[in-house]
Amino acid sequence: MNDYITVIGGGLAGSEAAYQIAKRGIKVKLYEMKPVKFSPAHSNKNLAEIVCSNSFKSNLHTNACGLLKEELRLLDSLLIRIADKTAIPAGQALAVDREKFAQMVTEELEKNENIEIINKECGIDELHLKEMSENGIVIIATGPLTSDNLANEIIELTGDEGLHFYDAAAPIIEKDSINMNIAFWGDRYEQERGKDEDVDTWKKRIENLKDADYINLPMNKEEYENFVNELVNAEVVELHEFEKREIFEGCMPIEIMAKRGLDTLRFGPLKPVGFTDPRTGYRPYSVVQLRQDNTEGTIYNIVGFQTNLKFGEQKRVFSLIPGLENADFVKYGVMHRNTFINSPELLDETYNFKKNNNIYFAGQITGVEGYVESISSGLVAGINACLKFNNGNKKRVFDEKTMIGALAKYISTENKKFQPMNANFGILPELDKKIRDKKERYGRLADISLKIIKNS
Ligand SMILES: Cc1cc2nc3c(=O)[nH]c(=O)nc-3n(C[C@H](O)[C@H](O)[C@H](O)COP(=O)(O)OP(=O)(O)OC[C@H]3O[C@@H](n4cnc5c(N)ncnc54)[C@H](O)[C@@H]3O)c2cc1C
Repeated sequence: MNDYITVIGGGLAGSEAAYQIAKRGIKVKLYEMKPVKFSPAHSNKNLAEIVCSNSFKSNLHTNACGLLKEELRLLDSLLIRIADKTAIPAGQALAVDREKFAQMVTEELEKNENIEIINKECGIDELHLKEMSENGIVIIATGPLTSDNLANEIIELTGDEGLHFYDAAAPIIEKDSINMNIAFWGDRYEQERGKDEDVDTWKKRIENLKDADYINLPMNKEEYENFVNELVNAEVVELHEFEKREIFEGCMPIEIMAKRGLDTLRFGPLKPVGFTDPRTGYRPYSVVQLRQDNTEGTIYNIVGFQTNLKFGEQKRVFSLIPGLENADFVKYGVMHRNTFINSPELLDETYNFKKNNNIYFAGQITGVEGYVESISSGLVAGINACLKFNNGNKKRVFDEKTMIGALAKYISTENKKFQPMNANFGILPELDKKIRDKKERYGRLADISLKIIKNS
């Protein structure tokens, strides 16, 4: 076995993983293909390049990403420490000077005696995954724009279904924020009132459908037409050139489908067939369906609503759907280039690859989404790679009541429709006692999480 751990990819996750390993006294070979080769979104020669917005989001503990950052501070994350040092004024948010940030991370890793940085692309020449993982422990942290050569090797490891090349994710909503005076439970046809079924028997029957897979939101003609009209005129995100071709090969954004004609959605994802609106006793004009998104049943996605609408527009337009007027969006829909593996099948809660325990994945490629989330998975994978290196079967699984643990649990828990996930309070287990006020609830969840991390 090698006397070092290999980290592939010197982005946010890979840089954090390398630091965590080195500080535990273990040698690291960190492979980064820049400046020899750049992805379509990278341009800076330094490590830990921030490819888009320079914001690491809110610092408030009542914000899920704020809580995650605080956990990372307590766990001695190098990248969050440097983000704090290179912060620029941005109110409650942690925004950084991206040049200084990447430069300081690079300098820190370069001067670390345990870290050797090698600027080469893995997946070519002698740097093949199979051989590397036969000889030692490897962390793959090559991000959403992993080079094609390495992506092909990852497919060899994971199988054809193991690697996705873009996100087509619908928005996700907290169940408690859905207006259940309008929404009703039930699966198509099962919920519908039978021809010969009397009203009382039907009402009693649908009362028992609370365990059904779907929550349904009925719309009348006026509500439907108003919604479609706002949808087709809403502002969309400008895609990068490299993203335009790939996205439309998969599934279609809801706003593009809506542009094909006023009734297109009513005959597609919003079709009302098989339902009876409990409020009217008739079939609704259209139905929006929400499907459970986590095992706890605390968050739901809007079926068929993959979209390129700007986040603010998603909030505005989707809140027009009756029942979603006060919806809390834990994640907005996205459709963009994103290489990620089918983690629920492939990884455990330490980001360890189940088919070959010498391999860990970290960062956006695991299906965590966002800068801070990528850093968090780099930290978990780095710590666990060290435990493995020291010949232990010991693993460090972070408590699911912490944001860092909840994310690791989310990506490694069975999920047939797995899509990347960012930090949000919906993935934490529910409190024993319900707290209706959102701020108070999030504050309580944050207190619990930080206490666990401090005592760990
Ligand atoms: C266009 C775009 C915009 C984004 N905007 C945001 C945003 O505004 N906010 C946000 O929170 N998140 C954003 N993300 C998502 C995500 O948070 C970032 O991509 C984040 O950088 C992911 O961290 P990572 O470490 O997984 O990957 P990266 O930071 O991309 O690091 C991967 C590294 O691996 C290297 N690499 C790739 N293949 C190889 C190989 N074969 N051999 C060696 N090195 C290799 C790359 O050069 C890169 O340096 C965006 C993603 C993309 C693609």
